[in-house]
Amino acid sequence: MERKLESVKIEGKEVALLADFPVRFACMEHFDEELDDYVNDFEAAPDTHRAELIEDETMDKRCRVCGEPAQIALLKEKGL
Ligand SMILES: [Zn+2]
Repeated sequence: MERKLESVKIEGKEVALLADFPVRFACMEHFDEELDDYVNDFEAAPDTHRAELIEDETMDKRCRVCGEPAQIALLKEKGL
């Protein structure tokens, strides 16, 4: 779904995130749609990672559109 975090662990590495850019999740089916939404909502292309690489047990890793388990995480990393 969607959460704002200062940083997130990706494959064991702490990655700083830009403030005001949430972490969103999408399934393969809705990835293109979510990508467009992210660009429209935040006027920046997100960085994408496989959802399973995001190491946060408290994160709701379901597609924002359909609620199915997500395959892709969309977020915005600092300094890229
Ligand atoms: Zn979906």
